[in-house]
Amino acid sequence: MTAGVDDARKSGREDPALEQARDTSPEALEAGLTDDEAARRLTAQGPNAVETTRPVPLHARVLAQLRDPLIMVLLGAIVLTLAIGDHADSVVIALVIVVNTTVGVVQEVRAGRAVAALSAMSAPSARVRRGGGERWIPSSEVVPGDVLLLGEGDIVPADARLLRAASLLVDESMLTGESVPVDKTAGLDGREESALHAGTVVVRGRGVARVTATGGASALGRIAALLDNRPQPTPLQLRLAALGRVLALVAVGLCLVFFVLGLAGGAAVGTMAVTAISLAVAAVPESLPAVVTLALALGARRMAGRNALVRRLAAVETLGSVTVLATDKTGTLTEGRMVVERVWTPKGGEAVFTGSGYAPVGEVRMVGASAGDAGMGGVRDLLTAAVLCNDSALRPPDPGAAATSWSALGDPTEAALLAAAAKAGCRSRLDLDAPYPRRDEEPFDSVRKRMTTLHDTPEGDVLVCLKGAPEAVLAPDVLDEPPLVLDLAREQAATLAAQGFRVLAVAWGRREGLPARPRSAESGLRLLGLAAINDPPKAAARKTLSDCRAAGITPVLITGDHPATAGAVAARLGLLQDAEAAPATVATGRALTAGEVPDLTDVRVFARTNPEQKLDIVQAWRARGHVTAMTGDGVNDGPALRQADIGVAMGRRGTEVARQAADLVLTDDELSTVVAAVEEGRRVYDNIRRFLLYALAGGTAEILVMLAGPALGLPLPLRAGQILWINLLTHGLTGVAMGAEPVSPGAMRRPPRPPGQHILGDGLWQRVLFLGTVVTAASLAAALAAESEGGPWQSVLFLALLAAQLGVVLGLRDRLLSRDNLFLPAAVAGSAGLAAAALFLPFLRTVLHTDPLGWTGVGTAAAVGALGFIAARLSRQVWDRHRSSCG
Ligand code: ATP
Repeated sequence: MTAGVDDARKSGREDPALEQARDTSPEALEAGLTDDEAARRLTAQGPNAVETTRPVPLHARVLAQLRDPLIMVLLGAIVLTLAIGDHADSVVIALVIVVNTTVGVVQEVRAGRAVAALSAMSAPSARVRRGGGERWIPSSEVVPGDVLLLGEGDIVPADARLLRAASLLVDESMLTGESVPVDKTAGLDGREESALHAGTVVVRGRGVARVTATGGASALGRIAALLDNRPQPTPLQLRLAALGRVLALVAVGLCLVFFVLGLAGGAAVGTMAVTAISLAVAAVPESLPAVVTLALALGARRMAGRNALVRRLAAVETLGSVTVLATDKTGTLTEGRMVVERVWTPKGGEAVFTGSGYAPVGEVRMVGASAGDAGMGGVRDLLTAAVLCNDSALRPPDPGAAATSWSALGDPTEAALLAAAAKAGCRSRLDLDAPYPRRDEEPFDSVRKRMTTLHDTPEGDVLVCLKGAPEAVLAPDVLDEPPLVLDLAREQAATLAAQGFRVLAVAWGRREGLPARPRSAESGLRLLGLAAINDPPKAAARKTLSDCRAAGITPVLITGDHPATAGAVAARLGLLQDAEAAPATVATGRALTAGEVPDLTDVRVFARTNPEQKLDIVQAWRARGHVTAMTGDGVNDGPALRQADIGVAMGRRGTEVARQAADLVLTDDELSTVVAAVEEGRRVYDNIRRFLLYALAGGTAEILVMLAGPALGLPLPLRAGQILWINLLTHGLTGVAMGAEPVSPGAMRRPPRPPGQHILGDGLWQRVLFLGTVVTAASLAAALAAESEGGPWQSVLFLALLAAQLGVVLGLRDRLLSRDNLFLPAAVAGSAGLAAAALFLPFLRTVLHTDPLGWTGVGTAAAVGALGFIAARLSRQVWDRHRSSCG
């Protein structure tokens, strides 16, 4: 794959308008392109997208439908009926083909549109500088010459040349296959070190770059053009396709039996052949693939309406069977709105802060032994170091906007430190930047759990500021402090963490000159103290976790935070039952590495984990046959999100790379949205099974009627046209309408279906046989009764069989009178109307060979319909009882 990058390097296909791109004067950098210029270039260059799938033209879709084996058989049947002069049947068969093809094409187009709309919603975005301001735009609108602002977790949207970089590390493995991320430096024009390639990921640091090539001209474009990006069928679609083939074989086999028996009984070959073909067509649920695709696509659309964007259709069905939900803590279970409430310094000064949110207003009160100016000085030193070692900003409430509170730009932990510093009267970043300009930095990452910055000082030496998790800072190789101080600080950190605080240790020191690497300055520092940050659990989180448990989903907390903090939060949310014992039941990342946790699936709270360990935890659950959903938002969470059955990313808070690796993106960042998506997933699966039950029971009944009829003295019980008419009315609209049924009331109070369960499992095929037999028996009984009185028994049988199936549709509803899916009663009423039309409209009567029925005939058919309804209700109850006795 290296070729792609080399090509990109060699590519001289830059826009002549890019001359402006070579202007790297600070002014040009600040402004980026103007909006007009960007629009002009977008029109000239086209969108920054790689078109790998071309839209399928209508005639190709129609041809694809006609190539279906069942339709081919029907086309054959038309030829046959024309040959034997049965023009009426030819008309009905032609009608069936037209309706089936139209419904198939419409469903395919609708499903395709729904999926396209979804992928548009979850499309990547990029931060650019345009018209003097910064803004997020869809990546597809990036044009050559745009100034890109890149940060950790961003996906580079187009090929670009670096203008400025701070510790920029980029993962190019998707283009080069090289797994080690590469350092990038600005200003080496024409060299690989300063080139950024579309599709690569910023693993660390920040950069400003100017776009050189977009779309098909970019490195990703050239590689993507070689890849096939067509959506793959989902596992359920594949399984149902296989099931469809088996059913078709069984149906064709039975129709052959019917054909042979008919011939043996002396019927004409042509008539028997056409009837057998029609029977096969009616018995096979040929609309199954369309119903499934549409149900999945509609499910995905409903999920989007509930803030859950599904990025692959397969996720809709997998969601229904999720058994484990692994969640992170900060911002998911907690508010993610941080406030420094206490600062502890080793000299004994402890400060308590008041105020809420990110507003830099509040009081600082010194408590403890040295509650005086000396203590306050120590607190200010700590917060000054935290301000220097900081990349966030506080944004005041916008006077014109609805938001009335201050907000954090960047990392919330760092913003909380800025607010505390302002409360303590420390100088702001802006004031400190001139005397202490930042010279180098080692950004925060969730593996090292600390961050270091190096600054020039007015005295001419270098100031090293470091902040991070207590274990990552309170170590003899980092701090030059006596063991007693280290022990005291550790004890203090543990106490604060056990109270649920997020704790950071801060240190600083001076150096004669600038070290070659900022990491080498992380030693011999002075401890300034600890900052305790409160991040309260979300009010709704407790309920979300209990909803999960009610639905048979095991919640697991995986956090990078301290075990005591994690334990305290978990206990407050009811994730660990006993608050006192909580810390003991928390497994740490270190314990995992040391192999001290024999079975990862025994643990409910993991703390101080790194992203690779998330992967181990997912794998352990999956190895036990569980279906896992896992949340993640960091740049290193990609592999775990991909490995989980359902990777969940946060739409607002998450990084671009996490969003693109995920199957589900939560646009409101709320964990309860995962539970809502699971509910929709269960609904889709239930509805597909409901349709299968209905369609297979109907098919079974049609075959049984045709096989048993002659034995009961009803030769050729139904004519070919009649069978096809029944097929049209039952499989068409009513079948599709079943896919939109509302969620069952108990769907989230029962355990998830076992992942390996067959689609016809859990009693479904037994119910198919039961309903098929009842419908057969009732319809034949009605026909026999009519025949004994010399009535038009065939028309009675035709209407009874139809009515019974419509009765089954209604009987299978969860809530009989639900107004949530009025499409279903309307479809049933429409089908009933068309059934009546078949008996009472002269033209249809001729084509379908039916006779008008009197009140007795209609009444008998209605009674059979009621029986179908009762049988369906009964089968539901028996099944529900069986389920609750098993579960
Ligand atoms: P979760 O995985 O639940 O979101 P988290 O966000 O708390 O957990 P990390 O962001 O990996 O996990 O943070 C781990 C620890 O690193 C924190 O407990 C804190 O002590 C420290 N820390 C967090 N952010 C910073 C930062 N910007 N600078 C320095 N240290 C930090």
